[in-house]
Amino acid sequence: MKNHLMDMHKAQILSLFVTISFMLVHIGLYFMFREYGVTPMAYFNIGSIATYILMIPLICKKKLGIFVIVVDIEVLLHMTLAVLFTGWNSGFQISLIGMCVLLYFSEYVARTLELPYTRSIILSIIGAAAYIASFCYINDHPAPYSLPPEIESKLQIAWAVIVFMIIISFLQIFVEITFRGEEFLAHRASSDELTGLKNRYYIMDYLKRIQKSEGLKGYYVAILDIDDFKLKNDTYGHNCGDYVLKTLAGILENNPCKAMTCRWGGEEFILVGNTKYSTAEEQCELLNTLREQVENYNFTYNGQSLPTTITIGAARYEKGMSIEEWVNIADKKLYTGKYNGKNRVVV
Ligand code: GH3
Ligand code: MG
Ligand code: MG
Repeated sequence: MKNHLMDMHKAQILSLFVTISFMLVHIGLYFMFREYGVTPMAYFNIGSIATYILMIPLICKKKLGIFVIVVDIEVLLHMTLAVLFTGWNSGFQISLIGMCVLLYFSEYVARTLELPYTRSIILSIIGAAAYIASFCYINDHPAPYSLPPEIESKLQIAWAVIVFMIIISFLQIFVEITFRGEEFLAHRASSDELTGLKNRYYIMDYLKRIQKSEGLKGYYVAILDIDDFKLKNDTYGHNCGDYVLKTLAGILENNPCKAMTCRWGGEEFILVGNTKYSTAEEQCELLNTLREQVENYNFTYNGQSLPTTITIGAARYEKGMSIEEWVNIADKKLYTGKYNGKNRVVV
């Protein structure tokens, strides 16, 4: 399970997508400024287009930190100058809002990939300052050029569409990343790495949840311990021991008791089952069937046959018990089983 949705390749593709999109916008703006005689901005756009072309090899060389700074400066200068030259009604300043979202996203990507980055909060504040400053300036100094009112309306709509698209799509990606990240951490925190089973923390939480909701009446826990496991480790090595643990986990997951299985720790496992629909005797029989399944399973590691047995101690939940007391009773029964010769079920 991967904890990040982003890797360098995806970041490069996304950067190329941004570069090409911005370049196309600037090509359109170049023709528009030329058409309506806003010559300084037409020249500026030639520079912008050239800048975006230069960004392509930079992205290929994975210099994404520099790419973000250059794009930010370009957008900042272009949009501020466009407001100063053509006035507030052309709506160029709206693009600075979308830029903030892109900056925060780029910071997330850079931090995830451990790349150098500039804090988006600094760049965003500069963007906000440029927005407000150009508004104040244009209020006192009329713009030297103007675009036809119908073009201004179309531009305003176009900026709104672009900025909303940026906000909606990137916030959606953020939600996805946050959610998957949390899922990943929850999985890590509740699973045992070697066997893939749930771990002790998970099962304790699980039991506490049941205790709070429906109560634990009818539930039982069974603690299983591999017999003479240390001997296998010492004789055939730790990897062989790991093989036994993983294989046993597979058998336990498909246990005939339909009980939840988790790795309690070391070579001990715990089953949490319910006797609501079967008697204690039936459950004992099922645990015994499980014990036999393990005994009869052909564990083989590197051609070496490894007969394996388990001892099980099980206890039903009795009213008034704490979960810890309940598990301790099962544990004591397990040790009774060990003391009496192992490879048996004690209930
Ligand atoms: P008993 O029949 O009384 O249970 O004896 P045992 O040898 O099974 O029990 P003991 O507690 O003496 O040894 C348990 C061993 O389990 C010791 C430890 O090194 C080993 N062990 C614990 N966790 C792991 C693991 O993740 N992988 C491997 N390979 N061994 C482990
Ligand atoms: Mg043990
Ligand atoms: Mg053991």
